[in-house]
Formats: sequence, structure tokens, C-alpha cells
Amino acid sequence: MPRKSWENYEPINTKQDWYEVYKLNKNTYAIYEPNQWQEAISYLLIGSERAMLVDTLQGISNLKFVVDQLTELPIIVINTHSHYDHIGSNYQFDTIYGLQNTYTANNARGLSNQELQGNVTPGSIWKNLPKNFSFEFYESKSYKIDKFVKNGDVIDLGNRKIEVILVPGHSPDSIILIDKKNRLMLTGDSFYPAPIYVYSDSSSFQDFFISSQIMFSYRDDVDYLLPGHNETMQSVKFLSELRSATMAIINPTTDFKLIDGNRSYDFGSFKIITKNPLDFGIRQGE
Ligand SMILES: [Zn+2]
Repeated sequence: MPRKSWENYEPINTKQDWYEVYKLNKNTYAIYEPNQWQEAISYLLIGSERAMLVDTLQGISNLKFVVDQLTELPIIVINTHSHYDHIGSNYQFDTIYGLQNTYTANNARGLSNQELQGNVTPGSIWKNLPKNFSFEFYESKSYKIDKFVKNGDVIDLGNRKIEVILVPGHSPDSIILIDKKNRLMLTGDSFYPAPIYVYSDSSSFQDFFISSQIMFSYRDDVDYLLPGHNETMQSVKFLSELRSATMAIINPTTDFKLIDGNRSYDFGSFKIITKNPLDFGIRQGE
């Protein structure tokens, strides 16, 4: 750690050493947490009038301190979904956009240290913990959504338009963000080059299957995928691999391993973990 592929990008020094910041192109930064098992990534998209912060990581250190060094523009925060490792520093920012959705509203209320037990532990953190961090008092702080967005909305940052597309599956409130001008798709946890989780109580493989088709439909509009974990700037070819993978999963002859009671399907650069049995095409009474 950090993974080798990060060496391809220009590192930016931000007077702290919990987050690593990389400049991906002239108006896009990745903010990465390499020292924790989640290896989550947040993105800062700079427009001519506003900036958009996509995801705010786990709230372990002071994300606003970093963002303030990268831009003076007003900031809109939006989350690819409301899991704790994507919303942790929302509370530090003034303007939050989000979905009008019960699942999102529940997570926005905050999660106590008790509810997050086991997620942020000494064993899952490698180094450089900020001085004033304490495992005992760690929690996901509540935040307020200032503006609701819906499928198909376009957010104008000035000379840079970001489209919001719903892709439920990993969570009920997953979205992707598409920046056609810069040919980027921010995929959150709907795609990254590692095991993709579609097995939790609030996941739906049936929704994920449809969402992989929706993501594929944008293949001619983007060159790179910006995932929410591990590595950035992934090839657009993964949109077609992801679609093929979900189609393979609904074929009952496709091999999987049973791990901790869930199915693990291996597609080389990524895996998809689903429930067992698969939650697809299940009708009432079956
Ligand atoms: Zn997630």
C-alpha cells in the first residue's frame, strides 16, 4: 500500500498525512484513504463556478481541511450512496445534495459507535491515524440534505455538467455521476476492481443486474470509470465486463464459491458477491 497504479498520478501535498491527494486531470482530484482496509476514494470535481465533492469517506480525519486547500469555490457534496464509508465528513460541509429516499434518510441521521462496531478498528488501520482520533468515540455524524436530486438531474458546476443516474443494487440509493465533457463516470460501489458487494440485507442483485445494463448504456459517453474504492481511472471496458458478469450470474450453470454463506463469482479483475440463493426472479409464493 498504496497500490502501484496511484504512481501514475501527480501527488498533491496537503499538510496532513491521513489522506493522499492526487490530481487526475486539470480539474479533477482523487482523495484516497490508503491506510484503512476500505481504501475509499472521494473525488473533487472543479467547475468554473462551483466544485462538487463526491463522497466524504469515513470521517476519520479532517476532510474539509484538505478540500479547502484544493479550491475556494462553493462546494456541493453528493454521495454515490449513503454507506458510512462514503458520508463520514458530510457534516463538515454546508451544501449536501441527496436522494429523497428512506434508506438515505436513515443513514443521514448518523450511526453510533455501537452501530459501527467492527468497521473501524485498530486491526483494520495500518498507520498515520490523526492525533485526535479515538476508536472509542468514532461515529458517523448526522447531516442534513439541502437539496433533493432525482434520476436524470443535471448539476451545473459552470462549464461542467454532472448527470445523476440511479443505479440501485449495491444499496437502494446508489447513483452514478456522468461528466460527459470530461468523459468520466463516477461509479461509487457499483463498480471497482475488487469484490463488489451485492449481498447485504439492503442489496438487491435483481436491481444490480438492471443497473449494470444502465451503466453499459453510457459506454460511448465515457473513457474512464472513477470507482469508490481501491484504484482510480479504470478502463471503460469494465462496463461491458460488468454487464457480461451479471448476465453470467443469472445463468444457473455459472460456477461460484460459497463463502460465509454468500456466493462469490470470480471474473478476474473483479468479483461479485451475492446472496445464496440468488435474489433474482423470485416471485411471491415460490
Ligand atoms: Zn457501499
